[in-house]
Amino acid sequence: MQPSDPPLLPEQVLQARVAELAEYVSRDFAGCSASGGCELTVVVVLKGALFFAADLIRRLSVPVTVEFVRAKSYEGTRAGEAVDTAFLFTSSLEGKSVLLVEDILDTGRTTSAIIEQLRRQTPARLALCVLLDKPARRELPMVADYVGFTIDDQFVVGYGLDFEERYRDLPGIHVLVDDEAESGT
Ligand code: 5GP
Ligand code: MG
Repeated sequence: MQPSDPPLLPEQVLQARVAELAEYVSRDFAGCSASGGCELTVVVVLKGALFFAADLIRRLSVPVTVEFVRAKSYEGTRAGEAVDTAFLFTSSLEGKSVLLVEDILDTGRTTSAIIEQLRRQTPARLALCVLLDKPARRELPMVADYVGFTIDDQFVVGYGLDFEERYRDLPGIHVLVDDEAESGT
């Protein structure tokens, strides 16, 4: 298995869309500050959303704090049943505005499990931002507030997304194809 050439979403396309998403988020959370009581906390889902969140956060024009949650649900390219989460928080989300940043919304199980646990901390507001949305595979009725790109039901890698921990470092998003299909043999 290897990443498609050319990419499904090249670096420039990704970066332009991230800039747009940052504008929408900044507009929707304008006026939020620590003193105003609605400080924006960006919760980044590791590891996949690492690069997307880093680019998004740096383009926001509102002040933010950043927290992390680690989630794992995939074995290879097949969705695992159980979602394993670990919250690495340094402060409570109580009364805060929270933006959950995830790489991809697939069956919806991971995001749903995380959101359920975030709600227990009674944030004032909770919004979901995903780089990619694969609605064809949805099992739970999850809808993101901000979506970078809606894609077909295909396994993608790059820009944080992995296949068995590889390819996260690619600057674009690629479909994972088998070597024979790619070489035409
Ligand atoms: P869900 O729980 O919504 O089915 O899956 C969400 C998680 O599965 C994502 O955070 C991501 O880690 C992983 N995932 C889903 N689709 C893909 C994909 O096409 N490529 C990669 N690399 N991971 C995916
Ligand atoms: Mg993930």
